[in-house]
Amino acid sequence: MSTAIVWFRNILRLHDNPVLSWASDCDGIDTIIPIYILDDKWVNQSNHSPTVNRKKFLYESILGLNRNLEEKLQSGILIFSGNAVEIFKSIFEMLDTEITWLLCDFCSEPEGLKSMDEIQLLLSDSSIQTKVFPAVSTILDIEKVIRSEDFINPKSLKDIDKIFANNLETDPDGYLVGESLAPPKQIKPNINVMQSLANNDILSKYYIPFTDLQQEAMKIDSNLETGTHYFLGGENEALVRLKRKVSDSHNFVNDFSKPHSVSTNEQGNPLEPSTTGLSPYISNGCLSVRLLWNECRKANFNSSHTKPPESLLGQLMFREMFYLLSRSVENWDDDNANTNCKPIEWGEYDEPKVTAWELGMTGFPYIDAMMRQLESTGWMHHLGRHAVSCFLTRGQLWQNWKIGRDIFDRKLIDSDWALNNGNWLWLAGVAPFSMPYYRVYNPCPDSKSSLNAETVDADFIRYWVPELISFPSKYIFEPHRASLEIQRSSNCIIGQDYPNPIVNRKESRKENLIRFKESNANLSKGN
Ligand SMILES: Cc1cc2nc3c(=O)[nH]c(=O)nc-3n(C[C@H](O)[C@H](O)[C@H](O)COP(=O)(O)OP(=O)(O)OC[C@H]3O[C@@H](n4cnc5c(N)ncnc54)[C@H](O)[C@@H]3O)c2cc1C
Repeated sequence: MSTAIVWFRNILRLHDNPVLSWASDCDGIDTIIPIYILDDKWVNQSNHSPTVNRKKFLYESILGLNRNLEEKLQSGILIFSGNAVEIFKSIFEMLDTEITWLLCDFCSEPEGLKSMDEIQLLLSDSSIQTKVFPAVSTILDIEKVIRSEDFINPKSLKDIDKIFANNLETDPDGYLVGESLAPPKQIKPNINVMQSLANNDILSKYYIPFTDLQQEAMKIDSNLETGTHYFLGGENEALVRLKRKVSDSHNFVNDFSKPHSVSTNEQGNPLEPSTTGLSPYISNGCLSVRLLWNECRKANFNSSHTKPPESLLGQLMFREMFYLLSRSVENWDDDNANTNCKPIEWGEYDEPKVTAWELGMTGFPYIDAMMRQLESTGWMHHLGRHAVSCFLTRGQLWQNWKIGRDIFDRKLIDSDWALNNGNWLWLAGVAPFSMPYYRVYNPCPDSKSSLNAETVDADFIRYWVPELISFPSKYIFEPHRASLEIQRSSNCIIGQDYPNPIVNRKESRKENLIRFKESNANLSKGN
């Protein structure tokens, strides 16, 4: 009898799940044991703990996977919390002769690579075979591409396009990324062994009964404020959103132009993204990028449509670019010894300013609305992310990008190590693919701003910064400029009911441009 452990790492779905499909199709495998391991280090970090939003989204996604496995495949999944290497060590000791395979998806984050190396070392003298499936969270096989002879670090869409051309077939409608797999029709879970693992003395300290996780998710949910429930985790939610925003909305896909999308969400619904809002599902492995790619291609078929870089396919190509760089560039998440990061001399950590930024109390309503939306829902539009990251770094506050990166990492429900670092490097102006450092966003956008804020009704600002609910739109993006009379009639005195700006935006911009230029010049001189 041959039993395979199917370890779901960043693949919380049944569709396009090559690991599960392979296990169910393989003649040499009689039964399987599905396992998910919650990294307790991640959950319990003392100084960098993920917010309740992030936890809630992940827990809902795990619970959703368990429900789908139960309802569609009469299985379920064993959920453990702890260190993956220790957990597997105990499992292998207990089931030495029964397990023949350990199957899992490839994870490119440093921690994920490290634990896989350790597990493979653990199994080096054993008869258990491991199979790590590439290109599960990405379109490209990241390791294969970065190891190819002609690989050079991509810096632009042109570079990533060349990499796609070298690695994928094409047809007249563009790149062929392979069909997304349907969920397996059946799997054979080894229920007896699953039960004995759950009840084992050593493993019981790691084991989390489904009901405990459910209670934890419900506890978080009941403590959340309104608006915070907007994105629900899980594969089913992902597929519903995919259908609504992409598969049933061909015009939306064909007209999609990221630089022109509205950063202040849909008119009349300050919680619904003007873009797809699929990032939390992709980052948590609830939605396959291959499926999204193919649904976009269906929409594009026989129709005129936008093209990369601004199209939806263009966004997915940027995603691949950051995944490649995150593996090929040493110290991707650092500002030292990182060839993709100029070590600019950022200012000393300024706690009051960073706290004001994080809490949405800078006195710049657009920045504050974005940061409060992040705190509350765990999501923010791409151009909002542009504005707040530029504001924290080279724009107004002159703070190291890693400070913002860490705050985003704790709060974003779509937090992704490769993408978060890549985009912060981009926006801080320090990377080869960055926009020119002197292109600074005005944190008080008007109707012509490239931040594409809705400025006529300014409902987004009114929703997230309710102190300004009665302010006239004319002043709402820069309320300290309104006369005291207007402030009084709007029931909001600036400096009392809502903060004065924490910096003079024009002066700080000017000073920071000089600093950036000088720091850059020092680097060129090798100082
Ligand atoms: C400072 C900063 C930090 C960011 N951190 C993250 C992060 O941790 N996780 C994350 O998923 N995205 C991150 N992004 C990228 C981008 O903002 C989000 O992917 C996007 O806003 C998600 O919304 P959406 O799903 O509606 O995107 P859509 O515009 O509908 O795009 C579809 C998908 O393409 C991918 N994508 C879109 N834009 C980018 C991009 N610039 N880089 C890489 N992939 C992209 C995402 O998977 C997204 O879901 C960051 C951007 C900035 C400026």
